[in-house]
Amino acid sequence: MKKVTQILIVGGGTAGWLTAAFLAKHLASHRDFGIQIRLVESPEIGIIGVGEGSFPSIRGTLAAIGIDEARFIRECHATFKQGIRFDHWVRPAQSSGAPHYFHPFSQPSQRTGTPELLPYWLHGLAGKDVPFAQAVSMQKLIADQGRAPKRARDNDYLGPMNYAYHFDAGRFATLLAEHAKSLGVKHLLGNVDQVRLSEDGSIGSVHTEEHGALQADLYIDCTGFRARLIGETLQSNFKSVSEVLFVDRALAVQVPYAAPQTAIPSYTISTAHESGWTWDIGLQSRRGIGYVYSSRHSSDERAEQILRQYVGSAMADLQPRKLDLKLGYRPQAWVKNCVAVGLSGGFLEPLESSGVGLIETAAYLLAYLFPFDGELEASAKHFNHLMTQRYDRIVDFIKLHYCLSQRQDSAFWRDNTDAASIPLSLREKLAMWRSRPPSRLDFITDLEMYPPSSWQYVLYGMEYATKLHPSALDANKLVLVQQEFQNIANFSQRALNDLPEHRALVEYYCQKG
Ligand code: FAD
Repeated sequence: MKKVTQILIVGGGTAGWLTAAFLAKHLASHRDFGIQIRLVESPEIGIIGVGEGSFPSIRGTLAAIGIDEARFIRECHATFKQGIRFDHWVRPAQSSGAPHYFHPFSQPSQRTGTPELLPYWLHGLAGKDVPFAQAVSMQKLIADQGRAPKRARDNDYLGPMNYAYHFDAGRFATLLAEHAKSLGVKHLLGNVDQVRLSEDGSIGSVHTEEHGALQADLYIDCTGFRARLIGETLQSNFKSVSEVLFVDRALAVQVPYAAPQTAIPSYTISTAHESGWTWDIGLQSRRGIGYVYSSRHSSDERAEQILRQYVGSAMADLQPRKLDLKLGYRPQAWVKNCVAVGLSGGFLEPLESSGVGLIETAAYLLAYLFPFDGELEASAKHFNHLMTQRYDRIVDFIKLHYCLSQRQDSAFWRDNTDAASIPLSLREKLAMWRSRPPSRLDFITDLEMYPPSSWQYVLYGMEYATKLHPSALDANKLVLVQQEFQNIANFSQRALNDLPEHRALVEYYCQKG
């Protein structure tokens, strides 16, 4: 069996460069063992350049590849993200009732000796109409009040609150490229115009006009939606999820701030509209805004009208960029000597920023399962199994946001609540959660991108009714738990004094050497 020493990554977007940097760092002594990592990217085809929201796992990844936090924030025009605020997902804008709910990244508070708070919140012990996220975590108030998740004195990638970032996607790819090259990755510019197969059906070489035939032992397809190797050449099946998740188009626009010191929300604002939703992300000097919608439920003209209404006069001179989205994934993302990472492997809409998170997972797995001895088949099988399981669970989690909506104001929302569009695995979970709340034991955490707390925040943010059996509560703990809810409220107030204003912290990092 031929040892794997030559790795060729095709594509230089976030997927290509993140995988390159991660492998170069993980296989730190790769050059001593004759392992060479090259990345070839087309000088003509650009990167997708959207994807500005991330998940807290990104901090671990950036630390693991060795990029310091200040550099990342400065060079990627990044800001902090403490969660997502969902506006009008439960009911339309005109209705009475809470207009939004928050999905914070920090876990519900759980102090030693105090039971899990969720059953007691369901019982109403936190007070009437106190949202779950506010009752069990300080983060909602901190984010609402414009505070950052950490202080200047905290170490890199650490803080009292859990957090991710918003960042400029183009600048992120550039930073990753510079960093990967400093770790020894060789960069080639060239357009892959032909892919040659070997007799056994594996990839034999890829051809570019600039460099002729490029050969490797392992090819990593990071060519985005084109999927030049895994799709066009190897014809690995694409499993569409469009019967579950309906959005398939996006209009994206970059909106400068009216004034340089405009306050920046430290959360994504996701607003539901008649046939989809908008993201609204605050970077250092502009907002990234986009409307993701279903072409089965809306014309492009109507979608643009909705986006323009949302942005208001700031959009008068701006033209949105239109993107077609193909939602689904390849159950066989690793075929013989080719592994697809990033959009070539799959994409599940931006609602909970799973895109970069899935690239991180694929890069970790690839490094962990790296087939040094050339035994590709077992690694491929395990990789495909874990990635497929993860995709399926993310589909369920995203669908949870739609299927619990009380909105009946358009076909898009009515179709989304139709049981036929809800995967059986999600229907089964929801059935269990009618009489008890989600807990750790409902999940195999290694296969989940989102922790149980994320499911809880969304489930109860969407006002799901769990009718708790009285035996779920310990009558002896009621006073203790009530005190704990009060403590969280008190600590939240104190945290406001301790944490800096969000933009002030971002500026501190930008000026830090
Ligand atoms: P691309 O960026 O498309 O890069 C493809 C690369 O392949 C380019 O370098 C190109 O030059 C090269 N290439 C293509 N063909 C060839 C060829 N023949 N020869 C040589 N090179 C070639 N993710 C998140 O985590 N959070 C978000 O908030 C988020 N929002 C999104 C919103 C939208 C509307 C979309 C569409 C995606 C979003 N994503 C988000 C996903 C995220 O953008 C991607 O996961 C991420 O950018 C990775 O893209 P990529 O590197 O796979 O592909």
